[in-house]
Amino acid sequence: MAEATYDSSNIFARILRGEIPSHRVYEDEAVIVFMDVMPQGQGHTLVVPKAPSRNLLDADPAVLGPLFAHVQKVARAVKKAFDADGVTVMQFNEPASGQTVFHLHVHVIPRFEGIPLKPHSGQMEKPEILAQNAGKIRMALAN
Ligand code: AMP
Repeated sequence: MAEATYDSSNIFARILRGEIPSHRVYEDEAVIVFMDVMPQGQGHTLVVPKAPSRNLLDADPAVLGPLFAHVQKVARAVKKAFDADGVTVMQFNEPASGQTVFHLHVHVIPRFEGIPLKPHSGQMEKPEILAQNAGKIRMALAN
């Protein structure tokens, strides 16, 4: 079977182009950070490099260092914003692994003792909650 290639009609590419809205936390020349609309836990955030790739497998290695520097900043910020006990960082590659959106992204999820993750791509969160959580993380990033 032929290797799958990057398709710029994916939903994160559309968010990057401003064609569809997101609850944005942070943006610079390298990345955009926004709330996952079907969070697996309170404060589930996505860190998305602007450079196009399907996932880690076809990414330019030069993108990964800056991307993970941002992941670290966001992980620290969500821990602080939600007074979390820990942070889960996840990243999926191809459908067999659970990937559903084919533009590289890293999940950053605050964790609380004894509270399991909800299912991946499960239930939609209310927009007002996502907006509120984005605000909390923005504040933590700024301080
Ligand atoms: P993955 O399965 O790793 O590709 O993760 C894709 C993630 O994107 C899932 O956790 C979805 O809940 C999330 N998601 C899908 N559509 C959107 C959207 N429009 N805005 C924010 N997150 C989304």
